[in-house]
Amino acid sequence: MSDARAIETRVCVVGGGPAGVVLGYLLTRAGYAVTVLEKHADFLRDFRGDTVHPSTMTVLDELGLLDDFLKRPHSQIVQLDAHMGSDTITVADFSHVPAKTKFLAIMPQWDFLNFLAEKGRAYAGFSLLMNTGATGIIRENGRVVGVRASSQNGELEIRADVVVGCDGRTSTLRAAAGITPRDLGAPMDVLWMQLSRRPADRNAALGFVGAGSFLILINRDKYWQCGFVIAKGSAGTVRARGLDAFRAELAATAPVIADRVNEIASWDDVKMLSVAVDRLDRWYLPGLLFIGDAAHAMSPVGGVGINLAIQDAVATANILADALQKPGPVDDAVLAAVPRQRTFPTVMTQTLQVVIQRSVITSVLLSTTPPKHAPLILRILTSIPGFRRIPAYIVGIGFRPEHASTRVRGS
Ligand SMILES: Cc1cc2nc3c(=O)[nH]c(=O)nc-3n(C[C@H](O)[C@H](O)[C@H](O)COP(=O)(O)OP(=O)(O)OC[C@H]3O[C@@H](n4cnc5c(N)ncnc54)[C@H](O)[C@@H]3O)c2cc1C
Repeated sequence: MSDARAIETRVCVVGGGPAGVVLGYLLTRAGYAVTVLEKHADFLRDFRGDTVHPSTMTVLDELGLLDDFLKRPHSQIVQLDAHMGSDTITVADFSHVPAKTKFLAIMPQWDFLNFLAEKGRAYAGFSLLMNTGATGIIRENGRVVGVRASSQNGELEIRADVVVGCDGRTSTLRAAAGITPRDLGAPMDVLWMQLSRRPADRNAALGFVGAGSFLILINRDKYWQCGFVIAKGSAGTVRARGLDAFRAELAATAPVIADRVNEIASWDDVKMLSVAVDRLDRWYLPGLLFIGDAAHAMSPVGGVGINLAIQDAVATANILADALQKPGPVDDAVLAAVPRQRTFPTVMTQTLQVVIQRSVITSVLLSTTPPKHAPLILRILTSIPGFRRIPAYIVGIGFRPEHASTRVRGS
């Protein structure tokens, strides 16, 4: 007999990131008891997916949450510009996306998750256990029937009719289930840092191409969130060259921030994202389903990771809300419907990301001199206003966008 505390719920969601919190919210709103486990004590994390795209805001609108969401502090990005030598070209223009919100909203992920968790607590079935990390799965007769977890108050056994692994790209549940994702490869890592933003600075997301370097600046109102793209595995070499050389490299890549690179006081101000692009061939086992980064880690190209995770959660909630009307364990056929719905957008998005990584990012990282101009073909294409709407649509709306169809029954 285990002396772990036992909890019974209809759905156990492991991981309180965007996928887990949205799924928990939607299913409790539909009237089901859902327990969401989050191993951290809070949602505070630096430099996570903070880009909320029109596809996600459309879902928030369908749920009646958009007005409240937009009242929270955020910045809005309407276009993405690339600077190459003497050329500045607009590569994406969101002002025409077929959505109410024709911009990307940039909001710290912890604000977004706190917002959703607050809304979730309005429903009786919503149980969010912070500081509670899943440590393993409970299997009976070849089926996952729950998870083991560790919390400040001791060990827990959570039994559920279905377990959903939303525990991110290093998923504990995936390892416990013995499932390994297929690695699609990434040529780069990203060094993230903040530099102050001045009132006269432009209001756009900017990309700067330098000699063997690529710097992204995302408007965060008072500061720029800066992502410096480096060759995979080269963070050690960059550090070994020293902080002064790093600051000089940033300034040379994006002269507009040359006057403030000294704000980077030490390497503690620079956080490394090891980029991974992978996906599961099989997203479920009897009783256990994976969604979000746990099913497919996305490249940072397009900043779509959070939005795909949320789209997965919406599709999963739509499918499970119907199936859970029947008491007892959720059938495999129901779980299979989730990857059937979500594999297409995942594969399409990752394929485009991998093509851009191989064709554009790899050649930039291998270059030894800064470009004098943008490539002619890019200049011609992006001078056509209609063309800029295509990348904006793919990034902002994505392939096969989901719509929240779960009904409210949980208050
Ligand atoms: C540095 C960085 C920058 C990024 N920038 C962007 C961006 O600009 N735009 C964008 O769209 N995407 C970005 N991403 C990706 C984006 O954050 C993810 O795609 C998105 O958050 C995936 O959501 P998720 O809910 O599937 O997983 P996650 O956000 O990874 O959430 C998983 C959650 O599970 C919890 N957890 C893990 N293990 C356990 C366990 N055993 N028990 C309980 N809880 C557990 C974790 O603490 C975490 O809260 C970035 C990622 C990183 C790391």
